[in-house]
Amino acid sequence: MKQQLVFEAPRRALPPRHLADLDADGLATAVAELGLPAFRAKQLAQQYYGRLIADPQQMTDLPATARESVADALFPKLLTAASEIECDAGETRKTLWRALDHTSFEAVLMRYPRRNTLCISSQAGCGMACVFCATGQQGLTRNLSTAEIVEQVRAASAELRDRDQGRLSNIVFMGMGEPLANYARVVAAVRRITAPAPHGFGISPRGVTVSTVGLAPAIRKLADEQLGVTLAVSLHTPDDELRDTLVPVNTRWQVAEVLDAARYFADVTGRRVSIEYALIRDINDQPWRADLLGKKLHKALGQLVHVNLIPLNPTPGSQWDASPKPVEREFVRRVRAQGVSCTVRDTRGQEIAAACGQLAAEQG
Ligand code: SAH
Repeated sequence: MKQQLVFEAPRRALPPRHLADLDADGLATAVAELGLPAFRAKQLAQQYYGRLIADPQQMTDLPATARESVADALFPKLLTAASEIECDAGETRKTLWRALDHTSFEAVLMRYPRRNTLCISSQAGCGMACVFCATGQQGLTRNLSTAEIVEQVRAASAELRDRDQGRLSNIVFMGMGEPLANYARVVAAVRRITAPAPHGFGISPRGVTVSTVGLAPAIRKLADEQLGVTLAVSLHTPDDELRDTLVPVNTRWQVAEVLDAARYFADVTGRRVSIEYALIRDINDQPWRADLLGKKLHKALGQLVHVNLIPLNPTPGSQWDASPKPVEREFVRRVRAQGVSCTVRDTRGQEIAAACGQLAAEQG
């Protein structure tokens, strides 16, 4: 099935306003509109971001008489877990979230010895139509609201706390959707995720990665926001001819433009950019492509780049497969030989369709 590129999300209504949609000023205004004293704003933020409570009935420092109006105005129950499945001995857990309008999308929690990483969605579905990606084949249903993005983080943080499994240290926008196609809401969500208490979860921006298919102007804009986050660019091949077919948005912003934008990001932020490369057997894994990738990246980004090779996770109906290990090793060797750091990403969640590119929530 060939999908169309879609930049503008279909005009579906976003959910009602939630506390997590608001910045500190917005929350102060909302609290005033409810006729509550100003100090309640900080208290509500502390309950939500600090104590990870999203139900005002559990906010014991809030007068019982105010709880209902606060719930109505600021805490609609945006997400319901429709299913939760785990693998890797419980160290990888996928949640299928159902929104108020029954749109669904997924988030994946991965536990490692020294970190907990949550892979979150920024859109329901995706409009970028990358041919090897399950979400890309599904098309775009709608953007997620800021609060729907933030709620994925709150829920996972609360779950980790309740199981005594430590804090959430890393957030990757590598679930469903193209984060930079839902730009303003994603940036607002990043601010809530990284803001110190009481107006955010206080997760270090260094632990937050925004992954993009390569929307060059939006990459530059993101650099100028000075969020301190890591940028990942899904390149998948160094040449335009093949990239046009794998990543259709390449017909709009070509490899050179994407790498220029990545360089701008690295210069402005001082942060090394990650390059994502799904290694596909006999498609983009040839030695000459590894050489070309290394050369182009070294020229464009010098030391400010790291290549993450992702063994292709086959999606239903796909003819494609991951490259054999010797081919993968040779690819790594050649990229490194050009002076570019390169590693292979470990693949989590394959058997529960929770690995990169496998997220495809059923719609309805
Ligand atoms: N839209 C964002 C986030 C997508 S998911 C982006 O394109 O970066 C995160 C990564 O998984 C991307 O690099 C994406 O290209 C990759 N990916 C998609 N499908 C995959 C598959 N079947 N196997 C391996 N990686 C895949």
